[in-house]
Amino acid sequence: MPDNNSSEPVVAMVVAAGSGVRLGGETPKALRTVAGVPLVTRSVRQLAAGGCTHAIVVIAPRTEEAFRAALADAPVPVTFVEGGHRRQDSVLNGLVALAEVEGLEHAQIVLVHDAARALVPVEVVARVVDAVAAGAVAVTPVVPVVDTIRQLNEVGSAAIDRSLLRAVQTPQGFDRETLIEAHRLVADHQLDVTDDIAACEFAGEVATLVEGDVSALKITTPLDLVVAEALVSGVEA
Ligand code: C5P
Repeated sequence: MPDNNSSEPVVAMVVAAGSGVRLGGETPKALRTVAGVPLVTRSVRQLAAGGCTHAIVVIAPRTEEAFRAALADAPVPVTFVEGGHRRQDSVLNGLVALAEVEGLEHAQIVLVHDAARALVPVEVVARVVDAVAAGAVAVTPVVPVVDTIRQLNEVGSAAIDRSLLRAVQTPQGFDRETLIEAHRLVADHQLDVTDDIAACEFAGEVATLVEGDVSALKITTPLDLVVAEALVSGVEA
C-alpha cells in the first residue's frame, strides 16, 4: 500500500470519453465488459485498491446514465465530468471540474488513467501514488518494448536501439498544480499530446519512470478483449 498519509486525498481521473471506434460496436469502449464487468468499473476498483480516494470520470455527452449504473457500487466517491474533443481536452475539463468538487479543492495528488487499461495491477497504482507522495511531480509506469521498432525517415527507415525504448502506460501521477499548468501551456501553444507526461515535459518537467506491467494493456482492439478475458479467467475463475 502507498506511503501516502491516509488523510490526504488522492484523485483518480479516469478518461473515458473516447468513442472506441477501433473496438467496434455502439457502446462507449469504457462500458464494454470483460468477464461481465465494464472496463471503467474495473479501472476504478483497481485505482481505489491502489490508494486513490476519489474518482473523476470524464465521459462523452449523453452517456452519464450508463456510466452511473456501471459505477453505482464504486468503492470511492465518483464525480462525472463531460469530456472534450481530444484526450487532452478531456483531461483539462476534468482538472477544471476538480476545483469544484467538495473535499478536493486542495487535493495535491492526481492520477490520470485511461479507462481502457482496466486490468492495471494494484501494485502499479500504488507505485505511482508513492512516487508522487515522495515528491515526484510527473510519474509514469513503463514497460520494456518487445518488438524491434524501425523509425521512418527521408531515406526509408532506420533501426532504433530497443534496449533504450519503453512503452508508456497509465495511471500517470502528478502534482496537481504541475499538471494544470502544463495542460494550460499546451493549450496556449495549440499542441497535440497523447499523454499527460508529454504535456509536463513541454512545460520543462522531468518524467519519473516506475515499473509498469504488461497486464495494464490498453484494451483497444477485439484481440485485446480476448487477451483481457483470458487474463481475468486465470485470476477470477
Ligand atoms: O484514443 P486513445 O486510445 O488514446 O484514448 C485513450 C483514453 O482517452 C481512452 O480511455 C479514451 O476514452 C480517452 N479519451 C477521452 N476523450 C477523448 C478521447 C479519448 O477521454 N476525446
